[in-house]
Amino acid sequence: MLGLMQDWPLLMHTVLDHAAIQHPKREVVSRSVEGPFHRTDYATIRARALRVAQRLVRDGIKPGDRVATLAWNTWRHLEAWYGIAGAGAVYHTVNPRLFQDQITWIMNHAGSRIMMLDLTFVPLVQALADKLPTVERFVILTDAAHMPQTTLPNAVAYEDWIAEVDGDFAWMKVDEQSAAGICYTSGTTGDPKGVVYSHRSNVIHAMVCNQVDAFGLGAADRVMPVVPMFHANGWSLALCAPMVGAGLVMPGAKLDGASVHELVERERVTFSAAVPTVWMMLLQHMEATGSRIDSLQRVAIGGSACPAAITKMYQEKYGVRVIHAWGMTELSPVGTLFSVKPEVSHLSGDDMLRLQAKQGTPPYTVEMKITDDEGKEQPWDGETFGRLKVKGPAIARRYFRREEEEILDEQGFFDTGDVATMDENGYMEITDRSKDVIKSGGEWISSIALENAAVGYPGVAEAAVVSMKDPKWDERPLLILVMKPGVLSPTLAQMRDFLADKVAKWWLPDDLVVVDEIPHTATGKILKTKLREMFKDHRPAA
Ligand code: AMP
Repeated sequence: MLGLMQDWPLLMHTVLDHAAIQHPKREVVSRSVEGPFHRTDYATIRARALRVAQRLVRDGIKPGDRVATLAWNTWRHLEAWYGIAGAGAVYHTVNPRLFQDQITWIMNHAGSRIMMLDLTFVPLVQALADKLPTVERFVILTDAAHMPQTTLPNAVAYEDWIAEVDGDFAWMKVDEQSAAGICYTSGTTGDPKGVVYSHRSNVIHAMVCNQVDAFGLGAADRVMPVVPMFHANGWSLALCAPMVGAGLVMPGAKLDGASVHELVERERVTFSAAVPTVWMMLLQHMEATGSRIDSLQRVAIGGSACPAAITKMYQEKYGVRVIHAWGMTELSPVGTLFSVKPEVSHLSGDDMLRLQAKQGTPPYTVEMKITDDEGKEQPWDGETFGRLKVKGPAIARRYFRREEEEILDEQGFFDTGDVATMDENGYMEITDRSKDVIKSGGEWISSIALENAAVGYPGVAEAAVVSMKDPKWDERPLLILVMKPGVLSPTLAQMRDFLADKVAKWWLPDDLVVVDEIPHTATGKILKTKLREMFKDHRPAA
């Protein structure tokens, strides 16, 4: 027997329709790429997204075709997402921080027919254009007055392009399982992999993120997504905010501490989301200028582990609640979020901060397990590490154009490539990437835990830990440090003394080197593959 409820497909446009009907005047403020602030609202965004969809169809875009965006977070990028998905096509967010060869590879792999790009990226794309044979037209996200001279084929200013249609258009009817967006993983090893979101997964994921113990957004919020829309589906905020009628404050191209601070203060932002580096830069700005961010209530921090020192400052000095979150492109992207369950509400001070350094608990729709290398489930005791595996309706089951490749285990779980512990209350803590964990004498040492402990040493700017080959233990940890300018580095003995009460004795690094710079990926993560290559012949002196 079937249920007798209506068939109401979970399509992305339903989110924007709802915002335009229920919250038509809610503001979307952007720092435009041209410079000035720009103010619009959901009703206007919807009307213009309909024009985008209509214009795409006029350009011959068919359901399932890919349309690339290479753009900062602005109102135009938002219109582009909804317009592309509303035409039944697939938005393909391109990360401008990737190397040129990677951008070319990704563009050709996705086969996007149109590319929408910000003014900032015109020189970059001009240099690549003859290597992008699938792109028929380049739409520059600007108006005629700011349109640059360009050699890009069929280039047009976005405002002129959408002005050629009247917006009298009905969203394309597609199945809710149809592709809506595609985002490539950063590809620290091998080729980048295309993760294809569906309308249904995007809508479900945003509903999940809006729960009280997740982002907890509401119509009174003013949401500033600092996390770029080109990184991991923009953490889904382009859907979460309109879904509940929260206002949006889009930071455009300026993501430094002073610019982010100006936006929070000027636009009375209540919620924001970004990687730890952004929060660190904002903190440094506030400490240096003695300024505050009194409107800000909550921030989601993820992408890499949020150090307890950042959480402490934001919560205790600035009154901002930190929601530590973990996720990845393949998870749409949120996998866990920190909230206080009644089981842990008795904790306070440093005990609570220690718990908050964990990445939190999975919300409904994310099933989770940890296993050993053979797939055997490991206990949830907060100590045993295992490969972290997940299952759910907004989690990848295949990669784009690699359909023959099985990425799920027999129970349908996706191996995240992260190594984690789960505790008895369901809190997950990332201890490493499975490739980076140091396997010493058959036991696993967490490189991340060592790095986090080592950055606590006075004068250390950044720390990375990789394995060294060892005849007896197989692998042993090597600590690589970058010191703050003018600070003398510690000796190995001094560092081992410092770490002695912070990690197990057998985890203590067997050697230490100081470098000027640690290599990073395009998304700001430590490039361990490069470090391993650099230090592959390194052996401790004694
Ligand atoms: P990406 O798909 O580029 O967003 O990268 C996802 C990876 O970032 C995850 O598999 C983790 O290794 C890492 N990551 C994301 N959030 C966190 C976090 N809060 N703590 C530690 N690692 C994280």
